[in-house]
Order: sequence, then C-alpha cells, then structure tokens
Amino acid sequence: MGYVFEPPGQATVEVFESEDRLPVRRIFCVGRNYAAHAREMGADPNREPPFFFTKPADAVVDNNVSIPYPPQTKNFHYEAELVVVIGKRGRDITEVDSMSHVWGYAIGNDLTRRDLQQQAREKGRPWDIGKAFDRSAIIGPVHPISKTGHLIQGQISLSVNGKIKQNADIAELIWSVSEIISILSHSIELHSGDLIMTGTPAGVGPLIDGDKCTVSIEGLGQIETKITQKA
Ligand code: MN
Repeated sequence: MGYVFEPPGQATVEVFESEDRLPVRRIFCVGRNYAAHAREMGADPNREPPFFFTKPADAVVDNNVSIPYPPQTKNFHYEAELVVVIGKRGRDITEVDSMSHVWGYAIGNDLTRRDLQQQAREKGRPWDIGKAFDRSAIIGPVHPISKTGHLIQGQISLSVNGKIKQNADIAELIWSVSEIISILSHSIELHSGDLIMTGTPAGVGPLIDGDKCTVSIEGLGQIETKITQKA
C-alpha cells in the first residue's frame, strides 16, 4: 500500500540536554485553571469543573523560534503555562497513579487570538479558530521527571520586552496536575506523546510585531519567542 500523497512529518518537541526529540500525539489544554485568571475572563473560579480544548500536534513551535503575527486577529495574546508530557498510556487513571504517567514537564505559551476566541464564546461556538491555529503552541524543551521530580510548586512568570506581565506560583492551580490527568483520562484514553497545557495565571495580554516574550518556570528555566510582522 502507498499513500496518495506524502504523509505529514511527525510533530516533535525538544528534550532538554538531549539530541533526541519527543514525538507529539495530541495537545490538550485546560481552561481557566488559576482563580485570578478565571475572574479576569469573567468566570466564577469556584463553581466550574475543569474543561478542555485542543490544539493540533503540528501547532508546536520550539523555544527561540520567531513567529509571524497570525492572520485575522487584532488581539493576539500570550498565556504562560506549565506543560505536562504523558509518557505512558492509560485510562481511568486514579490521582494516586497519575504521576506514573508523566514523562516530563516543559514551559509553554498558549498563544491565543483573543478576539476570535471571545466571539466564538459569545456565540456558543467552538474555540478552535481562536486557539488552534498555526504556530499557536510554543513548547520549550521537555525536562524528564526523573530529573525534575514532581512539580507541585514554583514560580511561573511571563515578561514582554523585559516587563513582567504574569507572575504566579504553580501551587495556585485550581486543578492540580494529578487531578487533571485523572479527570481527562476518564474521558479520553491518554497515550505517550500527549501534552497537557495546564492553564494560565492572571495577567494575559497582547503581543505585537517586534515583541520579545519570555516565559519562566522555576526548575525549568525559560523560553523566549520573538514576534515578527505578519507573513
Ligand atoms: Mn491557556
């Protein structure tokens, strides 16, 4: 059997201090997972169970790769996030067992066309056009959990042109990494190479042509992205 056209290459992300790359299967994202951010988006952080949206695997962009300002938006936002990488298949995973499914952690930036997301939200439509566009998932090198240990606290921050815009602690996650893995796995069987972007703290805001955006997480270093003019 052949293919009627050449199949796309495997989407991959870097692995910290390794020549090997990690194959990406799917990208799940958690919405409104820090109370102050839920409030800034006009939601009640106390009542809502976690909800998920996705991005295509090939939306990934490496650290230090410039990206052009995306089309059809006038409000292009950054979102600093802790990314969890699944390394072992499983479904109906218990919270206690969830950490045995984690391969590692990375720093992420969930790029968002906020105006398109908000229009979709107001109309009760899917978020894909606001969230799942080309080059919308900056993911830094993955640090194996064997080196980092479980990340349950530590500063997460984001700056634009050196000015701090987001500054929180991953201990403030409304739904912890273990809870997210367990809840998601009761809905969808998780596989190696699935990435979970765990949500962003308060302080989201716009990026424009020429901006340099830096995201840091304690224990994972930092990643940097430059925005260039519209392609
Ligand atoms: Mn997000």
